[in-house]
Amino acid sequence: MTKLLEVKNLQTQFNTQAGTVQAVRGLDLYVDAGEFVGIVGESGSGKSVTMLSVMGLLAENGTVSSGEILFEGKDISPVPYARRKALKEYEEMMRHIRSKRISMIFQDPMTYLNPVLRVDTQLTEALKLHLGLTNKQARSRAIELMQMVGIPSPEERLRQYPFEFSGGMRQRIIIAIALSCNPSLIIADEPTTALDLTIQAQILDLLVSLQKKLETSIILITHDLGVVASSCSRVMIMYGGKMVEHGTTYEVFHHAKHPYTTGLLNSINNPDEDEAKKLVPIPGSPPDLLKPPAGCPFVDRCKKALRICKTTPPPRFNFSPSHFADCWLYYQPEQTAVKEA
Ligand code: ADP
Ligand code: MG
Repeated sequence: MTKLLEVKNLQTQFNTQAGTVQAVRGLDLYVDAGEFVGIVGESGSGKSVTMLSVMGLLAENGTVSSGEILFEGKDISPVPYARRKALKEYEEMMRHIRSKRISMIFQDPMTYLNPVLRVDTQLTEALKLHLGLTNKQARSRAIELMQMVGIPSPEERLRQYPFEFSGGMRQRIIIAIALSCNPSLIIADEPTTALDLTIQAQILDLLVSLQKKLETSIILITHDLGVVASSCSRVMIMYGGKMVEHGTTYEVFHHAKHPYTTGLLNSINNPDEDEAKKLVPIPGSPPDLLKPPAGCPFVDRCKKALRICKTTPPPRFNFSPSHFADCWLYYQPEQTAVKEA
C-alpha cells in the first residue's frame, strides 16, 4: 500500500551568523491514509522544522539539503527542483498542495487569522478561491464547517471578528479553515499549547472525532505524552533532529526501547490514567545543533551509553513490523540492522 506521506532521510539546515544549524539530520517517517499519529520530542528537537520542510514553508535562511518527501506517491521534496533550478515550479506545486491536500494548524491562531477581516470572509475566501464555490455555496459550507467544529449560532458568529472569540473558539475556526478544502492530511503543530487545560482537552477531542468521521490523516505534534496516549494510534519520538523510535502507541508506551523514550515515560506517572501530566525534562541538555554529536544524539544524557554511542550513529533495529528504534543497545553481531546509520 502506498503511504500517504513518507519522508526519507530528510536533512534541513539553517544558515545563521553563528554557523550552520543542522536542525533535521537524516529523518525518516511515514503516515498511512486515515491514521492519527503523534510526534513527540522536547523543544528544539526539530518537530516543527520537519513539518515546515514538508510544507515548503521554511524561513528564508532554511534549506532542505537532501531527502525524499513522498506525498500521495509523488516526490514533493524541494531537492530535485533546486537541482534543476525549477523553484518556481516547486512553489506552484506546494501552493496547490497547501490549498487542497495538506492543512497545517499552528499553536497560536492569531498568527493565522486576519484580525481586520470578519470570520465569514476568511472562511469563504478559501472556499471560493480553491474550490470555485459561489458566494451562496461558500456561505452555506462555512455554516456547515462552523457546526462541524462545534461553534454555536454559526450564522451570527460568522459576522464577527477574530477578537470576539475566545482562544478555544479561535482554534476551532482555524480547524474549520483547515478542513474547508477536504485535505487528506492535517498537520497540527502543538495546537493546544496556548490554551487552558480543559479547553485543550476539548480541542483534542474535537480533532479525534473529526479524524474518525472524515478519515483525514492527522499528525499531532506535541510535547505531551498523555495527549498521545489518549488520541494517537502510532507515535514517533524525535530527539536532536532525528527520529529515535517509532511504533504503535501501545508498543512505545508498554515496550519502549530507546533510553530517551524510557526517560520520557518515567517522567510521567501513568500516561493511561493521567492525561494532563506534562513531561518533566530529563537531566542534561539537548545537543548543540551547530556542532551535532558524531554518534547518537542522546549519548550525553543516556545512562546506558556505550563507548560506540559517542563515535558512531546507531543503526536502526525493528522489534515488530511497526516498531523501530535507533540504538546500539540492541546490536548483536549476528543481527542485521534494518537501516545502517
Ligand atoms: P521543535 O518544534 O521540536 O521545538 P524546531 O523544529 O522549531 O523544534 O527547531 C529545531 C531546531 O532548529 C532548533 O535548534 C531551532 O533553534 C532551529 N531553528 C528553527 N528555525 C530556525 C531558523 N529560522 N534559523 C535558525 N535556526 C532555526
Ligand atoms: Mg515546534
